[in-house]
Amino acid sequence: MLNIIYLTAISVFWFLFLRETYSCRVRRQEADCLGLEKELNRLRDFKQGLSTEQEILDKKFEDILALYELTKDVCLSLDEEKVFSIFNKNLKRYISIGDCRYIKSSADLIKYEGYLILPLKLEGDKIAGYLAVDRIIEEDKVKFGILVQQFMIALRRALLYQKVQGLTITDMLTGIYCRRYFLERFNEELKRSKKNKLALTFLMIDIDNFKHFNDRYGHLVGDAILRQVSRTVREAVRQIDFIGRYGGEEISVVLAETGKEQANFAAERIRQAIAGQVIKVYDEQLKVTVSIGVSTFPDNSSNMKGLIEMADQALYLAKETGKNKVCFSPA
Ligand code: GH3
Ligand code: MG
Ligand code: MG
Repeated sequence: MLNIIYLTAISVFWFLFLRETYSCRVRRQEADCLGLEKELNRLRDFKQGLSTEQEILDKKFEDILALYELTKDVCLSLDEEKVFSIFNKNLKRYISIGDCRYIKSSADLIKYEGYLILPLKLEGDKIAGYLAVDRIIEEDKVKFGILVQQFMIALRRALLYQKVQGLTITDMLTGIYCRRYFLERFNEELKRSKKNKLALTFLMIDIDNFKHFNDRYGHLVGDAILRQVSRTVREAVRQIDFIGRYGGEEISVVLAETGKEQANFAAERIRQAIAGQVIKVYDEQLKVTVSIGVSTFPDNSSNMKGLIEMADQALYLAKETGKNKVCFSPA
């Protein structure tokens, strides 16, 4: 009997002991699960945070890239209008905007009622122009402001270049007068001729087949030819005459106090001087010719525009009838 009681007590004891051990383990495992779940949630939040941060970084990178692209593009041109058109094109790629205009005069602002007007101050308080903007959303305004800063840098560059061009008298490549200054001098000389009743001759000189030289030997050789031809023309005229680069490879000359007859000698002298010389460029020895159109005051026209047109027509005739020749305006 004692044995049975003893055995039962031992069994109960083991049963209780094992049950406690098992429930302890279950409780521990439950706690572990809870901990893991918490860790999982924490990692989920962290991942979410990372992707939000990635999104912000992507957006920032996109903005910086846009800024870089726009700055690079707007600085490609030194022409005011072109700078704006590049800016405008780029702007529409990066922000949502209805319309953007570059306005030079404040008098024109009246046409843009309802637009957001942005004065462009480039130096101190001086306003160089305005940007009129239509339908820009609030969240793009900061980005727009940054892009406008880049536009203003390029605009300042273009306006400065314009200013320098206005002050320049000579053409960089050839050293003869640039077109603008040449025309100013031409106008003054024409006034003097009218006042003193003196004749005046205008020559339009164009290098023959110049494209061929550029294509065959390259533009650097073309430039050297242009420089040499300009030098030869300058050496072939008098001190009181003046020459300018009218266009690409067109050189114009004003022969002061010169009528038709003397003009023929002068133009022929120029043509022969060029045709007779050998131009040495790098390893090449080249020969070029020119065609010359001539017009005289007062015979062909009494104004500058008319004289230029007449010489141009004469030049066309010289080209049409064989090149390397001097032709006079028929009118
Ligand atoms: P044409 O006898 O009818 O005058 O034929 P052309 O080949 O001379 O034709 P055109 O006058 O139309 O060509 C002028 C060429 O001059 C085209 C242009 O590429 C070149 N040119 C213009 N300015 C420059 C320059 O500053 N340097 C160089 N190298 N080439 C120039
Ligand atoms: Mg030409
Ligand atoms: Mg030519």
